[in-house]
Amino acid sequence: MHIHVEGIEGLPIIHEGDDLPALICERTSFSEGDILCIASSVYSKAKGYTRYMSDIVPLERAIRIAGRTHEDPRFIQAVLDCSTDILLEYPFVLSEISTGHIGVRAGVDQSNIEDGMLILLPPDPMGAADEVVEAVHEITGRSIGAIITDTCGRSFRRGQTGHAVGWSGMTAIRDFRGDVDLFGRVLKITEEAVVDEIAGFANFVMGESHAGIPAVVFRNCGTWTGHDNLYFRPEEDLTRALLKKECM
Ligand code: GDP
Ligand code: MN
Ligand code: MN
Repeated sequence: MHIHVEGIEGLPIIHEGDDLPALICERTSFSEGDILCIASSVYSKAKGYTRYMSDIVPLERAIRIAGRTHEDPRFIQAVLDCSTDILLEYPFVLSEISTGHIGVRAGVDQSNIEDGMLILLPPDPMGAADEVVEAVHEITGRSIGAIITDTCGRSFRRGQTGHAVGWSGMTAIRDFRGDVDLFGRVLKITEEAVVDEIAGFANFVMGESHAGIPAVVFRNCGTWTGHDNLYFRPEEDLTRALLKKECM
């Protein structure tokens, strides 16, 4: 099994209004079934999901949290504005956004954008992935899959990795339950988060700094069956329950 991975080079600095799928299609040729990963930061810049710090007036909670975390209260206000549930305020804000994704500072970024501006996660990242799939189909006639990625921290281990925040053209999970192992035993538990695995490698190709590679194409990943319930329901999420009990 040979999987081919291509980081798309030569893309310009992206601004609101830029046609990202068109810019990507000018720089690669797609085949049926390819998977296109796009950094959420760059998708958001193209769509204008950004804010000027100078436009933000911090309210009492943001001022209080910022006093503890030693961050700009306007930045914390932007984080709170994107959050539907706060799991942790200190030593960093950990919060849920409307789609169910939980991330440090709600995924709001201050890097890879002009001074004084913030990049927000796309408010509808699943819709964003659908839109990328449709746009590439329109331009090339090819049916591909798309994953919108973000770099995220994780529990238990040092180091950030790429996660899928939106996807289209595939299921998030490859479900191994009911399959048999090499010894004929039926698997009862294993659900593989394929979109996160692919996003993780895409993130590796992108890097975090000035490589200028916000899009990565995977070829020959094959297909799988499963489901899209990537996020735990609150009642099954042990970490979330403990954090809310201990840390607020
Ligand atoms: P995030 O993981 O979605 O928050 O995005 P990052 O800020 O880590 O950037 C991921 C990749 O995209 C890195 O290689 C950046 O250098 C690149 N990148 C970010 N913004 C732009 C842009 O406007 N144009 C280009 N060409 N690359 C960008
Ligand atoms: Mn980010
Ligand atoms: Mn990143």
